[in-house]
Parts: sequence; structure tokens; C-alpha cells
Amino acid sequence: MSTPTPASAAPVDAARERAVVAAVPTGLLVGGHRRDASGGARLAVDDPATGEVIAEVADASPADALDALDAVLAAQAGWAATAPRERSTVLRRAFEITTERAEDLALLMTLEMGKPLAESRGEIAYAAEFLRWFSEEAVRAYGRWSTSPDGASRLLTMKQPVGPCLAITPWNFPLAMATRKIGPALAAGCTMILKPAAQTPLSALAFAEVLREAGLPDGVLAVLPTSRAGALVEPLLGDARLRKVTFTGSTAVGKRLVAQTSDNLQRVSMELGGNAPFLVFADADLDAALDGAVLAKMRNIGEACTAANRFLVHSSVAEEFARRLADRLAAMPVGRGTEPGVRVGPLITRQARDGVHALVEDAVAAGAQVLTGGEPVEGPGSFYAPTVLSGVPAHARLRHEEIFGPVAPVMTFTEDAEAVSLANATEYGLVSYVYTRDLSRALRTAEQLASGMVGLNQGVVSNPAAPFGGVKASGYGREGGAEGIEEYLDTKYVGIAL
Ligand code: NAP
Repeated sequence: MSTPTPASAAPVDAARERAVVAAVPTGLLVGGHRRDASGGARLAVDDPATGEVIAEVADASPADALDALDAVLAAQAGWAATAPRERSTVLRRAFEITTERAEDLALLMTLEMGKPLAESRGEIAYAAEFLRWFSEEAVRAYGRWSTSPDGASRLLTMKQPVGPCLAITPWNFPLAMATRKIGPALAAGCTMILKPAAQTPLSALAFAEVLREAGLPDGVLAVLPTSRAGALVEPLLGDARLRKVTFTGSTAVGKRLVAQTSDNLQRVSMELGGNAPFLVFADADLDAALDGAVLAKMRNIGEACTAANRFLVHSSVAEEFARRLADRLAAMPVGRGTEPGVRVGPLITRQARDGVHALVEDAVAAGAQVLTGGEPVEGPGSFYAPTVLSGVPAHARLRHEEIFGPVAPVMTFTEDAEAVSLANATEYGLVSYVYTRDLSRALRTAEQLASGMVGLNQGVVSNPAAPFGGVKASGYGREGGAEGIEEYLDTKYVGIAL
């Protein structure tokens, strides 16, 4: 078993880290004003690489949530009535300011979430692109005019904002998951309450400042970090004035939220968990498949809904693929995300790391072989060694559950139909990856895979111009693309007698 490669040592500028954190306004954002939580509670934010507390922010209560709802309701009509070009301009400016401030925002993200700085920079760019994309979509919410089949009337449809929305986002992409909800909501003319994850509220609070500077009117966006997510959202979902819930997170919480919206029939978008298969056919370009595998597995330390969770490799190339993947992963430097050269940061918490290790232990007990890694990294923080397992039996838990860590199980198949059947043997259906040089096999397989997205000879599918989303237990609704803004628009039909 190989050990993780240490990162190159370089001094970390602690003063700059402190300055970037200190610049974040730590109050709740309600009605355009920063304020303490009612009752004065504070929420501690720590650095998962060290376990040390780096900041404290206001910890919103259910009473604060109702204040925020009043504030976004008060702003709703005015925001919906602004010219689409005005909304577009605010988003465009927000894109520019985010891009100018990318270095500070990236450092902030690494400090609260742990991912390597290079990946945080990538997320800031990705997050900013949603602002640019939806600044362009804001002026393109088209209706329709047509003649009824019997010729007796004219059919007019128009698009209108759904109204005040609640966005709930996870910690793994602290900014991009927020901008891909805020961008289309603002473009459509909706106001929004954002509840960021308790572990990563700083990116959201800092970004709210960007929007203010970009000219977003007071009250249009509220930001409520909280340590009591369930209690905070309950009065919101119980209030029919809230018209939409958009959620990115686990399937378990998503199901619960959908049930909670049943009384008031709020519209819902659910971006939930995944269990992505990564198919490598015998005719694949193996070098390209390995490049894609490293991206699909190791991006975000494996803590991504799109992370390749099961490598299904044709038996004729499986041994070589697994060996070379193990070499690649073993060579990835592990360390604090601020250190130069680090490719693998800490997992978000010790508990998350223990969960990943339990999945590996279960697979090994079931008969899997460890080609590299297989252990937590000793010392402070919550690091886990990049791991490749082969020969993972069908009943091992990690074939059925999201691993959410740097662990790659490699399994084999012999027939195409078997590959598709194994790939689809999961309750989830977010994304699948396919590597083959045969065009008809590629397209046939893409058609047969039960997932909302397919990466064909590429290990990353995320793109602001594309509709991101899943099927089955991975949820419904699409973020990005031409579809993204539709989630925030109602269609009104007017029948016209002529
Ligand atoms: P999570 O536990 O479901 O948390 C996500 C968000 O929901 C957080 O803001 C969390 O707040 C909040 N939350 C938790 N319990 C809640 C409740 N009872 N009512 C209302 N909100 C509640 O998920 P996670 O572990 O943070 O994130 C990882 C999951 O997200 C994975 O399953 C991953 O696949 C999924 N994900 C999906 C996508 C996608 O686009 N499909 C993208 C990224 C991640 P707290 O922080 O306070 O717990």
C-alpha cells in the first residue's frame, strides 16, 4: 500500500488569510441591512484542514427567517417590475466584480471548505459564469402567440416570475451552488432568501456584498446562515407567500423538503445526490479515460454530486486501468488547500472522513483489494488518502451509496449490455461517464443510461450553458442552460376571442 505524497512545503501568509476572513460582513442580510440574529446567537466556522475556528457569523433563528420573508415580499413587486435590461446589468456587474475579486473569494472558499486553491479559483470562475449567462438570459424570457386549431381564438402566453424563493445550498460548492440559483432567480424577477450550509457561510455572505455593489436593490436578496436548518425553513415552507424552494443537497433532506412543500404547493427544484458510473469500453483511449477518471473522481476531493462513484471497466483493460489510476492518485499531493501544489485537501469534517473510511472497510471486508490508500491521513484536519480499490463485490455498500471522498472502486464487465445494466443499478441518476472511440456505441450507451447528464469522453459535464440536473433519486429541475431560468418563471396563458 502506498502512502500519500506530501505537498511541497511553502510558508502560508497567515496575515492575508486573516484579512480575507475579516473583510466578510458576518451579520445576517435582511432588507438590505446587516444585523445580528435575534437572540444574538453566533455560528462558528472552522478550517477543515486544521479544525481551528476562523470566524463567527450570525446564527439565524426562525424569527429571523420570517423577517427575511417579509423583506423579500416587500421587494418582490418592485424587482419584478424592473426592466429586464436593468436586471441583466446588475448580474453582469456582479460577474465582473466576482471576477475582479476572484483571488480573495477563492482563498476564503479554501479556508472554510478545504479544497485546493486552484480548485477554488475554478469554482469562482464557474460561479461567475452563471451570473454572466443569466445576465444574457434575463432579456430572453419569451412568450408565444398562436392561433387555436379551430381558428376561433388566439393563444397568448407570457412568462412571469414565480415570486419569492428560498434557496438552500450545500457546503461542497459554496459559491457556484448559490449563483446558479441566484442568477436565474434575479434574471426572472424573483426575490430570494439564501440559506447557505452551516459549514460554509462566508462565501455566501461575501458574495451578497458583491451583489450590493453591483446595484441590487435592498431587500431583493436575504442571506441567513444558521445552525438550525430544519427549524429555520419550517415557518418559511409553512407560509404560502413563499412560492418556490430550490435545493441542492442530499436526497434524504430533499425528500423531506418536498413533503414539507405539499401544504402550500410551492414549486420545487431538487438537485440531489449521485452515484455516477464511469464506463470504460475496451476500445477507449485509455490515456484520455485516465485523465477523465482523475477529474471525475478527484475534483473537489471527491466531494461532488457528479463524482465518479463506480468505475466499470471492460475486463480486457481493467487491470491496466486500475493500476495506472492507482499510480495517478498516489502521486497527488495531500495537504492544506492553501499550500502550493496540493491537489487533495481535507474532507469537510472528521465525521465525513469516518464515513468514507467505513465504506472502504466494508468493501475490504467484502473482499475488495486496496491498490493505494485505504486509510485516513494521521494528524490534524480530516484528510483521507486517495484510494483505489479493485474487485469490489456487488453487495459492498460503496457501490450503492455516495462515497463523497477520494475513493475509486474499479469493477469489470464483459458485454455492453452488462455495462449499462450495472451502470443503471442505482436509485440515483445524476450523471454517467462513457469512454469509447466507437461513435454508435457511444450514442447508444448515452441513450440507454438512466441519468440526467452524460459525459462522453470527458470527465466534467458542468457548464453554465447546459441544463444540469438528474432523474430518479437525483431529483428534478435543471440549473443552467436555456432551461435554468424556466425554473423561476410561471407561464400564463391568455385566451383571446377575435
Ligand atoms: P445536506 O445535508 O442535504 O445539506 C444541504 C443543505 O441542506 C445545507 O444547507 C443544510 O444545512 C440544509 N439542510 C439540512 N437539513 C435540512 C432540513 N431539515 N431542512 C432544510 N435544510 C436542511 O447535504 P450535504 O451533505 O451538505 O451536501 C452533500 C449532498 O449534496 C450530496 O448528496 C451531494 O450529492 C449533494 N449535491 C448535489 C448537487 C447537485 O447539483 N445534484 C450538487 C452538490 C451537492 P446545514 O448545513 O445546516 O446542515
